[in-house]
Amino acid sequence: MRIDVSTLYLLIVGTTFVGACLTLWQRRTMAAHQREMGFWAAGYGLVGLGCLLRMFDGGVASFVSIGLSNVALLLGYAAITAGAMLFGGRRIAPSFVVAVAAFALGWLVWGQYAPVETRIVVTGLALAGLSFQAASALGERHEPVSLASRRLVRAMFAAHGAFFLLRIGVTLSGIEGEVLFSGANFAATMIEGVLWSAFAPAALLMMAREATERRLVAASETDFLTGVDNRRAFTAKATLLLAEQPLAALVVFDLDHFKTINDRHGHGVGDEVLRTFCRVVAKELSIGDVFGRLGGEEFAAVFAGCGAEDARRLAAAVSKLYTTEVALHFTLSLGATASAGVAANRPGADLARLLGEADGALYRAKRAGRDQVVIAEAPPIVAASAPLATRAA
Ligand code: GH3
Ligand code: MG
Ligand code: MG
Repeated sequence: MRIDVSTLYLLIVGTTFVGACLTLWQRRTMAAHQREMGFWAAGYGLVGLGCLLRMFDGGVASFVSIGLSNVALLLGYAAITAGAMLFGGRRIAPSFVVAVAAFALGWLVWGQYAPVETRIVVTGLALAGLSFQAASALGERHEPVSLASRRLVRAMFAAHGAFFLLRIGVTLSGIEGEVLFSGANFAATMIEGVLWSAFAPAALLMMAREATERRLVAASETDFLTGVDNRRAFTAKATLLLAEQPLAALVVFDLDHFKTINDRHGHGVGDEVLRTFCRVVAKELSIGDVFGRLGGEEFAAVFAGCGAEDARRLAAAVSKLYTTEVALHFTLSLGATASAGVAANRPGADLARLLGEADGALYRAKRAGRDQVVIAEAPPIVAASAPLATRAA
């Protein structure tokens, strides 16, 4: 099989153009990544332009087919790297912009006159450096959850950079000698270039999409006002915890006279008080506990490894701290207090049953004057069993 160089260049022009179009298309639906996706699309466009200009080598002035082509390639890689920096949570340093601009200008003026080996080495070093920089930029963001596609993209950039270095090594070793442009080195470079130009846009899109999905999932599980788990996330996590941890207790909190706080001081103050309550609870939570907002001014927690009495003490500590913190930071016309009901986990119980019991206890706490924690009297659980006759049938 023989494929000529122009065909390979044309393939790269095509794949980068398609990559740029797809990235611009997807960019409209990914608000959080608009800037980096803009850089990536511009980068593919410039790489494609560089390859297009190179196709005219011999037919136009070398200033165009070599000088401008190299500069377009360099700026394309720089734009892709800049996008990776933004995605990685870094800003684009002015020193980076100055270095790229200075290099591009120097290369534009001087590059076309340099011997081909020098061009390969200098361009290769610059593109390898930019690829490694992109790989490194994507490793710097400290996200609570790592994206699988991000590791793939980092590996891709690192491998691409390593490939340039390998090519430089082969060029400098003089293995190819006279047949530089027809040898395996050049063919491998072109084929790697084609594969990279197809893979890079797909991998970067995948990464942006995965990050977007993660954010959407997190938003669907988070209470917007307080930032704690919402009812959906709490229900899922608490169900799992109660099934796995027989020694655990559920506490349902309800802030006292919250309507009065709103009525007297406004909804804004009410919102701040709700946030304060969540901050207070966070101080009492241990790893493995779950906590969420059930709705309005009602919250629930499952304390792992706690019996009813331990959970009651924790709930009382939360209530006390809530009262103190609100007194410290707000000037309310009435003291902020909370009531709570506790239900202990046991074999056969589930979240719905414990919520019902804790709610009953909470109701008693309210009836008894509020600002207190009441433990539910756990009714014995009768295991659901079919009558003997049915079982035998
Ligand atoms: P009790 O002591 O019996 O619990 O009385 P309460 O006033 O706390 O209870 P009630 O159910 O009468 O009122 C709850 C109030 O919580 C009414 C509602 O406007 C307010 N509320 C619910 N969600 C929010 C919120 O997100 N922000 C604010 N500021 N208020 C909220
Ligand atoms: Mg309520
Ligand atoms: Mg209330």
